[in-house]
Amino acid sequence: MLQGLKAQSDNHGFPCPCCNFKIKATIEQILTGNSIFCAGCGLQLDIDRQGSAQAIDALNTLNEAVAQAEAQVAKAKKPGAR
Ligand SMILES: [Zn+2]
Repeated sequence: MLQGLKAQSDNHGFPCPCCNFKIKATIEQILTGNSIFCAGCGLQLDIDRQGSAQAIDALNTLNEAVAQAEAQVAKAKKPGAR
């Protein structure tokens, strides 16, 4: 069970454009515009926030949807709360 969860969390990321090494990056890292480094070749990826505005918009939307879903789940778990 635990190993399965770990494997899933390892799936976050994308292949390095330079060496194809799997770069681990979270949505948060991308959204905050932090530089991401490739552990394989050391390539630094600076997220071009303007150039990727559409992608960031999509990620923001996804993040909000996830947050709303989590809030609804939390509400459903508390029968007394309104
Ligand atoms: Zn690389």
